[in-house]
Amino acid sequence: MSNQRYPHMLEPLDLGFTTLKNRVIMGSMHTGLEDRFWNMGKMAAYFAERAKGGTGLLITGGYNPNRRGWFYPTAGTFNSYADIPNHRRITSAVHNEGGKIALQILHAGRYSYHPFSHSASAKKAAINPFKPKAMSEKEIRSTIKDFAKSARLAKLANYDGVEVMGSEGYLINQFMAPHVNKRTDKWGGSIENRMRFPVEIVKEIRKAVGEEFIILFRLSMMELVEGGMTANEIIKSALALEKAGVTIMNTGIGWHEARVPTIVTSVPRAAFRDATARVKKELSIPVCASNRINTPEVAEDIIASGDADLVSMARPLLADPHFVNKAAEGRADEINVCIACNQACIDHTFEMKRASCMVNPQACHETELVYIPVTNKKKVAVIGAGPAGLSVSTAAAERGHDVTLYDMASKIGGQFNYAKQIPGKEEFYEMVKYYGRRVEVSGVDLKLNTKVDTDYLEQAGYDEVVVATGINPRMPPIEGIDHKKVLSYIDVLTGAKVGKKVAVIGAGGIGFDVAEFLVHPGAKADSTPRPQSVKDWREEWGVDIDSDNPGHLIEKKPHAPEREVYLLQRKKSVLGAGLNKTSGWVHRAVLKMKDVEMIGGVSYDKIDDEGLHITVKGKQRVLHVDNVVICAGQESRKELYSEDSGKTNFHLIGGAEFAGELDAKRAIKQGAELAASL
Ligand code: FAD
Ligand code: NAP
Ligand code: SF4
Repeated sequence: MSNQRYPHMLEPLDLGFTTLKNRVIMGSMHTGLEDRFWNMGKMAAYFAERAKGGTGLLITGGYNPNRRGWFYPTAGTFNSYADIPNHRRITSAVHNEGGKIALQILHAGRYSYHPFSHSASAKKAAINPFKPKAMSEKEIRSTIKDFAKSARLAKLANYDGVEVMGSEGYLINQFMAPHVNKRTDKWGGSIENRMRFPVEIVKEIRKAVGEEFIILFRLSMMELVEGGMTANEIIKSALALEKAGVTIMNTGIGWHEARVPTIVTSVPRAAFRDATARVKKELSIPVCASNRINTPEVAEDIIASGDADLVSMARPLLADPHFVNKAAEGRADEINVCIACNQACIDHTFEMKRASCMVNPQACHETELVYIPVTNKKKVAVIGAGPAGLSVSTAAAERGHDVTLYDMASKIGGQFNYAKQIPGKEEFYEMVKYYGRRVEVSGVDLKLNTKVDTDYLEQAGYDEVVVATGINPRMPPIEGIDHKKVLSYIDVLTGAKVGKKVAVIGAGGIGFDVAEFLVHPGAKADSTPRPQSVKDWREEWGVDIDSDNPGHLIEKKPHAPEREVYLLQRKKSVLGAGLNKTSGWVHRAVLKMKDVEMIGGVSYDKIDDEGLHITVKGKQRVLHVDNVVICAGQESRKELYSEDSGKTNFHLIGGAEFAGELDAKRAIKQGAELAASL
């Protein structure tokens, strides 16, 4: 493999007894496939694809060393010899592709979702209804042995190593940080006592597996909770873990219960690299950086600057299993970049559904969503170059069909061209860029500025017609809806002048996004990505890297909002309750920081020169605003499709099919599945 382009990222890493072919680790992700033995074949295919794509070292999702450590009852556990043959299916699939793989061992402690959980102390987590029991000395000892047993079994199953999960707030963190550890015995109190548990685990594992086996340890480099470890305590622990036998120190950032976002799309790229760099300076073993590293440029820069020896990317390798090879072959512009939306990966995990990827629906479905080259080449028209149309047209062309993609707009991307302009959603530019390149490479014939009508389709004689024409914004029948104060979200996101006091009608995903756009200082609708700087982001979220504060937290200093905004809905429920599980709380917190007044249970009476007249709990109120922005949902645009026509070669997908729960994940997946079947 050439290492001219990203010389540091692609440089092999000699660990003495084995060599990683480059510096890219696929970080551990729970996909849901771990939990059922009958999914082992699917998991083997999933990992094999990433090994084939050139990744230096893969890490499995977390396996629990015993039942008390379960995430939830019947979650994936690796503590029996009977499990070995199943795991060998994974390791041999990876080794056949020339890759290496480590098994992650994770004990959830008080994050276990069952009544028999245990932890360092009997302190319930705010995110779990079950209160843990404090572990006895005997239970601590047997848990250490269970970690070592899982590692020994992993070696017998031909894994190349194990990763001990010591971050994100799981059991090991619960011992290491005074946030949970209130013990007064030799496992609590001073840092020497609190780090005893992970140090003993690593020593016991090293004894069980011998010298020639990789042990990674995922250490919290910043905990982002009150009572988290200080920087000095983290360094002390890292040194002790190195001495105990760790081969590679990996980075963890924050606990799951932290109220500072650590991986959502609004977190700037590589926002935590200096926390890793601080530990790397003290250690002699290789150290790996993680969190919001999603392009080869960022990865290369981190390693070249000496902040870390390796980078861990998890979601970016769901999005593109061939990330490393594409970078090495000079095809970095073909990488399907993870946009950190969490919509199909972590949100699925929290909903107990199998993980996948919004921008790559084949992820974790490698044996099910398969694109077979065609023998019957067809002439295919796709109308609409939004996410749905882009997905179906590129995959169909790659299979060998002759595809023409039409859009009446002057550029591809559909509504993603609005989404990408929202402050904190700049990553959405990447998806539009990626599809732009994929359209070129796959040979799709793209016709922009072309509005297609039924007459044209009648005459053109296509074998298959895909209608992916998206939506029209809904304009609710409120008295005064035609008033000059009224704007649609499209007006706002295409540069309409907006006053200093604004009411937003509708608090769905778009209402929240538009409110963020309106309050954000310097937000402009001019298609220039302006990601927030790490410094500004840290100030707003109260993250401190420089002092020795426990948990690295200081007072939040939100920047003054650009406008005074009201966000309204008719439902009486909490605003934003329907937003995505892992990112919705961040949107709510941002709007709260910016003093947006969120009002539910509203009836809209009228809009006039005075402003917006509403009734809430029987009381009338006038919001004296300069503008009223309508974000009241959408209606499908499907005039090119008629169910009654009997034309079986017409297909309706994306927002055009269903605007009610319109989202890009469904649009892209529908497009991909249709392409596989044409
Ligand atoms: P569209 O994106 O609407 O594309 C339809 C295309 O068809 C358009 O380009 C249009 O010009 C073209 N077209 C229509 N009629 C014709 C015709 N007759 N001839 C030629 N061309 C035609 N979704 C998420 O999942 N996550 C998010 O975070 C998210 N954020 C969003 C933020 C904003 C501000 C907005 C507006 C939307 C957001 N969405 C998000 C929704 C997401 O963008 C849509 O779900 C997605 O774009 C739907 O894809 P689509 O291809 O079905 O339709
Ligand atoms: P939405 O989620 O359906 O929300 C529409 C909003 O408009 C609701 O708050 C609804 O609340 C209100 N509304 C509906 N009909 C109305 C009417 N007749 N009069 C007044 N208010 C009305 O739709 P959206 O915000 O337009 O977003 C579209 C889709 O894009 C979302 O479903 C989502 O999938 C996707 N999206 C996702 C994200 C994300 O972060 N994941 C971001 C943006 C968009 P009431 O009925 O209570 O008033
Ligand atoms: Fe990245 Fe979104 Fe895909 Fe998850 S679903 S891997 S966050 S692009």
